[in-house]
Formats: sequence, structure tokens, C-alpha cells
Amino acid sequence: LVPESFSEESKVMVDFIAEYYRNIEKYPVQSRVERGYLSEKLPDTAPYGPESLEDILKDVSDSILPGLTHWQSPNFFGYFQANASTAGFLGEMLCSGLNVVGFNWISSPAATELESIVMDWMAKMLKLPSSFLFSGTGGGVLHGSTCEAVVYTMAAARDKALEKLDGNENITKLVVYASDQTHFTFQKAAKLIGITKSNFRVITTSFSTKFALSPENVRAAIEEDIKAGLVPLYLCGTVGTTSSRAVDPIKELEKISREYKIWFHIDAAYAGSACICPEFRPYLDGVELADSISMNPHKWFLTNMDCCCLWLKQPKFLVNSLSTNSEYLRNSATESNSVIDYKDWQIVLSRRFRFRALKLWIVMRKHGSANLMYHIRSDVATVARDHRFEIMVPTNFALVSFRLKPQLESISSELNRKLMDAVNSSGHTFMTHGVVGGVFYIRAAFETIMTKERHVDDLWKLLQEKAQILLLHYLN
Ligand code: PLP
Repeated sequence: LVPESFSEESKVMVDFIAEYYRNIEKYPVQSRVERGYLSEKLPDTAPYGPESLEDILKDVSDSILPGLTHWQSPNFFGYFQANASTAGFLGEMLCSGLNVVGFNWISSPAATELESIVMDWMAKMLKLPSSFLFSGTGGGVLHGSTCEAVVYTMAAARDKALEKLDGNENITKLVVYASDQTHFTFQKAAKLIGITKSNFRVITTSFSTKFALSPENVRAAIEEDIKAGLVPLYLCGTVGTTSSRAVDPIKELEKISREYKIWFHIDAAYAGSACICPEFRPYLDGVELADSISMNPHKWFLTNMDCCCLWLKQPKFLVNSLSTNSEYLRNSATESNSVIDYKDWQIVLSRRFRFRALKLWIVMRKHGSANLMYHIRSDVATVARDHRFEIMVPTNFALVSFRLKPQLESISSELNRKLMDAVNSSGHTFMTHGVVGGVFYIRAAFETIMTKERHVDDLWKLLQEKAQILLLHYLN
């Protein structure tokens, strides 16, 4: 790395990105390329000699940008938001620029110590009890995704339980519980840590509970398993489910998990960011009794991908499950037991993972909690009302789940899928869908950082226009 050319070329890259953001509304929001388009545009093999940055960026403009779905477009309302911000970008740049590998304290002390400090800062913003903080009796770690956080905490719960059960063969008795709205990561985690498929309980939710877990149904499932000689292991409660942003009743679920001595994890991947605002914090009430909680700053906290916070009340269970030792990593700091070696809090070793803390630290400092709260509040938009549309799930945060109300219920899914496709294929916007209680609905996630009122108005006009055409077609 030659500092002079690094500086020059980085400026070119930064200008290229700024230009992309200036023009972002000119691209169709959802990419329109055909499958395999890129191999027709790019050579079969890597170049033998070096190429200029100018040539590379020309290819990015001509071949890569047309194949992108523009997640940062103010007209992107699909899936969930991956908020980017200048602060998040600067943090990413600094992480990549320094490129240190901080797997244990000695390999880069500031990386480890900053992470512990940032985890406590974030926990304090969320008003988590001191039992989750390093300055209290717990602690936290930054992962890349909630999927990782769930796998690791489930592995910790499994090993804790198996130690008590006195024998690894008892793994076939362990049962995990979630709802039909819980993110699929839960299913993946259970599979990865060896939970028998038949011991994975998916508890059905319904319109009547606003798609939240019913404590009575959880209790009934647990009781039934205990009667059958099985051992309840892990319950996942979600604050802001992926599909509809439903909120599980944390307080009641925690009582149940204490009663039956089950590991209780709170997945607040999306809505955790909102809980920094006092008006949303009640969704986390009862968190004191949970074993672990995770949230993704890379969704709604202006932190560029990737970044997931995981806090544990007793990190020792995670460390017991994931720690390994190798002679080449032996050092006196580790042996003194007075430092954190984050390699023991996750699978990976040589990744620049620790410096996610640097990114999150810069986001918190450059924005300040007042502006972060303002950002969340301004996103909590409501959809204009039109009697032909129906809100499907109460709007808890900034996701609006709605459908065009058909005269005949039997055509509802078909009609709404067509409406979504018509709106998306216009190229002006992009939304995705969900299904609750067998009913197809359209989701509009109003959290993109560049979205202003006029984009929401445009979306609404487009929806109304396409709905009108579709309804005419169905009426004829
Ligand atoms: N949990 C919830 C509630 C989510 O909404 C999502 C993603 O949309 C996830 C988990 C998965 O998060 P990640 O992509 O960080 O693994």
C-alpha cells in the first residue's frame, strides 16, 4: 500500500460513490437484468496484468450498477432497511484502512477494549439492565448477523443443558420453541447445533394475537414435551418480526422461561434500534429476565452492513461453548484471565471483525443519541387511508402491511400479488410481501435514510393508479 496513490485513488472512489448517490433515483429500483447477464459482459478469466481504476469504474457503471437493486434508493420499500450513513461509511473505511485482526486482546488491545465500551454504550442507550453490561455482571459482542447470534446462543444453551443432563446422547431430548413468525434463522440454528427435527416447535400465531406468540400456547407445548420425557431448551421471543413487525409478549414469555428453566433469547434485530426512544422502550420491558438479546444496527441504526449486537447475562456459557486453545495464541494476558478474547465468543478467528466496534462508535459519536432518535421517529410513518386498502397488521414501527381489499376474498392473494408486481415493474419503486394467516399482503418498509414525504406520496399515487387498473380488470 503506497500512501500517495492510496490517497489519490480513494478520492476517485469516494467521488464515484457520491455521484452514485446523486443519481440514485434515475435507476430502476429493482434490477431488470436477465439471469447470467454478467458473464456475457465480463471476460472469462482475471487479467494477467494490472488494469486502471478508471477502466474498472467504467465497468462498474456499465455492467455492475444495472445489476443492482438499489437498497439505498429513497424509493426502496422492500424487505427491511439496510440504513447507510456517512458516519457508517467513514467507520467502514477506517476499519478497512487499518485492517487489523483482533481475535484476542493481545492481538490488538484497542479493538477488544473499544468493542466492550461500545457494547456498554449501546446497552445504555437501550436502557438494558446492568446484568447485560460489562460494567455490571454481563457483557456483549459484535457479530455480523443475527443468524450468528442465534446459533451461538443456542450452542451455549445446549452445552449448559447437556452438562446438567450428564451425557451428550441426551441431545435428542432437547426441544426449542419459536413462533411461525420467528425469523428462519432460528430453524437453521437448531439444525446446526444438532436439535432433532421433531424437537423443533413452531407455535402458530393468529390475527387475534396480532401475530405475537401466545404465552398459553407456549406453556401448553412445554407441558406436553415435559410429559413426553423431553427437555425444553430454548425459547426465542421477537420484538418486531420480519414479516409483520409483530411483538411477542416479552414479560410473560420470560416468566415461563424462568419457571421451566429455559434459555430465553430476545431477537430485536430490526426493532431494537427503535427501543432507544422512550416511547418504544416498553417493548423490551421484562428484558431483565432474558438470558440474551440481540439487535442489528445495520438495519435501522445508520450503520453500514454488517453489525449485530449480542448481549448475554452470563457470557461464560458462550465462552465455554466456543473457546479453543492453540499454542501459538498463548499469551500472559489471556492466562491472567483479566482480558476478553473475543475469538471465544464466536467461530471465526482471522477476520477484521473486532473493528465493527470502530464503525458503531463513529456512528454513535457523529450522530449522537438525540439525532438517532430523531431518525427513528421520522421514519415511523403512516400510510394514507383509502377505503379500498386495508391495514393487515397494526403498524408498530415503520413497516406498513396492507392489501387491496377484494370484493371476493378468494381472489385476494392473486389480486395483491399482481398489484405488487405492477408497482415493482414500473421501476419507480420496490416493495416485498408477507403472508399471515394464509393471506398475502404487501409490505412497505419506510426506513430508507433518503426517503422523504414526496417519495411516500409518489408511492401511494402509483399504488392507487395500479389498483384502479387492476380493479377495473377484475370487475369486467
Ligand atoms: N431476525 C429478524 C426479526 C429479522 O428481521 C432478520 C432480518 O430481516 C433477522 C433476524 C436476520 O438478520 P441477519 O440478516 O442479521 O441474520
